[in-house]
Amino acid sequence: MITPAPTPPVFVVSAPSGTGKTTLNRRLVKEHPEVELSVSYTTRSKRHGEVEGVHYHFVSREHFQGLIDKGEMLEYAEVFGTLYGTPKDELRRLAQAGKTALLEIDVQGWRQAKKLIPEARSIFILPPSVETLWQRLEGRGTESLAVRWRRLLAAKTEIECGPDYDHFIVNHSLDSAYDELQGIIIKGKKSKISTGEGAKLCQTLLHEFETAPWIAALRVELSKPS
Ligand code: 5GP
Repeated sequence: MITPAPTPPVFVVSAPSGTGKTTLNRRLVKEHPEVELSVSYTTRSKRHGEVEGVHYHFVSREHFQGLIDKGEMLEYAEVFGTLYGTPKDELRRLAQAGKTALLEIDVQGWRQAKKLIPEARSIFILPPSVETLWQRLEGRGTESLAVRWRRLLAAKTEIECGPDYDHFIVNHSLDSAYDELQGIIIKGKKSKISTGEGAKLCQTLLHEFETAPWIAALRVELSKPS
């Protein structure tokens, strides 16, 4: 009897925007060619430097809807008015190529995908504090206050879903977060933060959202007529 080859593992990484997940994931696949990022479909337009089929498959809403209707999506979600989804085909392709699959998807996507790929291991990257997250969003210097505020509110919703994840990494510095990510994906280690501690950290961040005076001040500023 021929024993089937073991299926390579699948990892899911989620994080609020501004937490450094894209930088960390790109560095990981560059240094470890046995790991490949799954290429999602999206309805957003290409950003400068992005390449069709490498960063995303850029398609129309009609095309995306067609893929959903044909049952070809493992999961999909609407993020900031744009549709994003992982095609089932992509996981088959990566498994056949013997690659460890890395899915960079949002929390809604993982809620759906975990029912279909429960064996996947999930990693949630957290900022050290909400204030640091806000400073990182400001540091990009490319977005208006209203857009940054929308991202901050989205981060809150994402952090509420933190307890859905197995591993937690706090991005105090890119290097230390990278070592942690590499430890989990390449060396099969557990994260330094246990699942219980991760859930508590999420609670602490959510508490900061509710109580930080600078957030209250921002709410007042944004409610003023422009
Ligand atoms: P961006 O437009 O900055 O590339 O991505 C915006 C958000 O969409 C990020 O939180 C990213 O993780 C999420 N995203 C990217 N691809 C997928 C996907 O295939 N499925 C889901 N659910 N989210 C995705």
